[in-house]
Amino acid sequence: MDVQTIRKDFPILGREVNGHPLVYLDNAATSQKPNSVIQKLVDYYQNYNSNVHRGVHTLGTLATEQFEEAREKIRRFIHAKSTKEIIYTRGTTDSLNIVAYGYGRVNLTAGDEIVISPMEHHANLIPWQQVAQVTGAELKYFPMKPDGMLDLDDVRKTITDKTKIVACTEVSNVLGTVNPVKEIAAIAHEKGAIMVVDGAQSTPHMPVDVQDMDADFFAFSGHKMLGPTGIGVLYGRQELLEAMEPVQTGGEMIDEVDFHSATWAELPWKLEAGTPHISGAIGLGAAVDYLENIGMEAINRYETELADAAYEKLKELDGVTVYGPKHRAGLVSFNIDGIHPHDVSTALDADGIAVRAGHHCAQPLMRWLKCESTVRASFYFYNSLDEIETLAKGIKDAKEFFGHVI
Ligand code: PMP
Repeated sequence: MDVQTIRKDFPILGREVNGHPLVYLDNAATSQKPNSVIQKLVDYYQNYNSNVHRGVHTLGTLATEQFEEAREKIRRFIHAKSTKEIIYTRGTTDSLNIVAYGYGRVNLTAGDEIVISPMEHHANLIPWQQVAQVTGAELKYFPMKPDGMLDLDDVRKTITDKTKIVACTEVSNVLGTVNPVKEIAAIAHEKGAIMVVDGAQSTPHMPVDVQDMDADFFAFSGHKMLGPTGIGVLYGRQELLEAMEPVQTGGEMIDEVDFHSATWAELPWKLEAGTPHISGAIGLGAAVDYLENIGMEAINRYETELADAAYEKLKELDGVTVYGPKHRAGLVSFNIDGIHPHDVSTALDADGIAVRAGHHCAQPLMRWLKCESTVRASFYFYNSLDEIETLAKGIKDAKEFFGHVI
């Protein structure tokens, strides 16, 4: 992994912030974009901007080809069987809402159970709360070990014959925990439940094979994996998507429309009402090209190295609490005794270091951690070990500034 060469592909990484070179460690919120993705968007708007699946003119054909070619790239990237299973959405939140309302709301009744983990992002939590309220289903949680890991024996005990849906994140955006979603899916299936996986924090950072993991639904966002904002994907097993009624209607998702009735187009278009995010999808295709060119195994190996280095460095610092397990994906959440996370992030920003402070859209997890918020540094393959040194130094400086002598 030649990080210095890779960094040249990302124009923003060359800028300064507050008089310091930018150290961008907020990748779990959104990633930066390489030139190839930016240029792909410019090319679309400059040369073949047109709506898809509608016109028969040259530009419309070009746009449609690129839009569908990107779908095929995404299919290959996550190892889905068919492009019919790749639904373009606005992002992970949108994808999970489609599953909750399009599948959960229709198929659950009172007495059924939905099981999720305590480390879910609100996107994989609130839709299930809402669906539980309207259907009368019960929302249950796996227990979690003190280091923020799930235990498969606990998983086995929590999923029962009444469980219809298990929904779990593959990687926690706060703890960095990597969950055994394949094993959880197998247990869910033994009990006749479906498995929904939130892949927002895994898809950008590690190889994903939805068939091997045997997910029934899998959701992720383009903007966290070098792509544009506002585009994401819902993967769904074809039989389930076929049986699902669209949550939104209108536009090209139809087959025939009469005055009082309508029939639906085939998958995947049945679930894509209205004009889609065309440039977003095309840009996401270019992002997939970029990631595949480096290789997801290599990206994952390198980011694990970064996470290990950051974990060890921060653990050594007096008065710093690091949350989550030792073996983790590429992020570290922490707190400094007596300093509010927002003050820590403001102090780091003065040194050009971008981290995030807050509840990270996981308030129940904050309660479990017994804190209101944390500081989170999250890495991508364009970050360097030097930047982790800069982060550690920035934390030491912040402690001194706020009166904690090291
Ligand atoms: N799930 C997880 C684990 C996330 O980290 C995020 C983004 N922070 C989301 C879901 C929601 O993603 P988006 O905002 O792109 O819909």
